Amino acid sequence: MTDTTLIRGRLLSFRRAPLSLADSDSYTYEHDGALLVSDGRIAAAGDYAAVRQAAPEGTPEIDHRPHLILPGFIDCHMHFPQMQVIASYAADLLEWLNTYTFPEECRFVESDHAARIATHFYDELLRHGTTTAVAYCSVHKTSADAFFAEALKRGMCMVGGKVMMDRNAPQGLLDTPQMGYDETRAVIGEWHGKGRNHVAITPRFAITSTPEQMSAAQALASEFPDLFIQTHLSENQEEIRYTCELYPEATDYTDIYARYGLLGPKTLLGHAIHLSEREADALSEAGAVAVHCPTSNLFLGSGLFPLKALMRREKPVRVAVATDIGGGSSYSMLRTMDEAYKIQQLLGERLNPLESFYLMTRGNADALGMQADIGTLEVGSSADLVVLDAAPTPAMRLRMETIRTLPEELFLLQTMGDDRAVVETYVAGAAMKPASDAQ
Ligand SMILES: [Zn+2]
Repeated sequence: MTDTTLIRGRLLSFRRAPLSLADSDSYTYEHDGALLVSDGRIAAAGDYAAVRQAAPEGTPEIDHRPHLILPGFIDCHMHFPQMQVIASYAADLLEWLNTYTFPEECRFVESDHAARIATHFYDELLRHGTTTAVAYCSVHKTSADAFFAEALKRGMCMVGGKVMMDRNAPQGLLDTPQMGYDETRAVIGEWHGKGRNHVAITPRFAITSTPEQMSAAQALASEFPDLFIQTHLSENQEEIRYTCELYPEATDYTDIYARYGLLGPKTLLGHAIHLSEREADALSEAGAVAVHCPTSNLFLGSGLFPLKALMRREKPVRVAVATDIGGGSSYSMLRTMDEAYKIQQLLGERLNPLESFYLMTRGNADALGMQADIGTLEVGSSADLVVLDAAPTPAMRLRMETIRTLPEELFLLQTMGDDRAVVETYVAGAAMKPASDAQ
């Protein structure tokens, strides 16, 4: 027997990147739309009357009118063990890592602690309408086990990796080149492809990996060419200077990853703020993705990511957007895109609300090469959805009185919205948003 439901509301799904605010061909919008969800997937989508007619008799219906239904948000870079690091007062990246983050991540050697935080982690993602995230675990295999076990329990499509780091951190947070290799292989064997889990090869960044460990990561990448590789690149000037000092033979920071075979279309590079033209060319040629983390970049004072400039280069760089919890200061992709907008304003660029909503959904799915499964409301996709209300607070309700167009409504959601604007979050067709008073 199949499990079938009709979900009614205003549907919005992107076909491709919008070229301008007037580019209505870039998306599909149904004012009175419906999704027929069958066994966790979208079986039909479109005008309510037509979808209702095609639905088997007796199909139960959930009516979300007048709210918007979008594909669930995707977050392309965050740190699962940093939930209790958010809001740590530090001068910059390296002070923040050494003073707060590394000591906190040491606690994830304890499986009870990792399991407890994993429960909170997925609760927060779902509370904020995020249905897929790409995350760093800690160096400990226990943290990856907790991360993937909880994703499996909730049926979520998640990407994660046991961090590889063998220097420049406290003893409790170091593996060795061999351990990093062996434990990553073990995580792949136990979790990759189980449910909707994807394992990523995860050398934290060049500062915390010796050349021997980078070679181990290279070995993993060549043995498992289908896996994502995630790491950090060019976040802050002091970090770049120190990194290049550690790898004097490399032309620049990007070249370090290229030398170890870690730069390709499955590579997700967190931050990538301060790239030279040569480095941007190298990313473009490799098809690697620069992952923009605006709340983190502002919080740590790291710099202003040239999102629009990278996208419109002659050799464009693929981009994605992310919260970077816990350097980032919000789990909300709406808050994230509000800060992304402001960063582009400071750079004299325009980021329109259609582009923002594209980036949080289809754009991030494209960056992951997962657009056949997530990021759209197309037939065949998993029914991972977010339902949004642009008037959840008195101030937003008042502003909504004067709003006339869809882009205006999206811009309000992005500028003032947060988890209160998330009415419901569906994972494979199941309503999953935790109650706001959930412990
Ligand atoms: Zn990060």
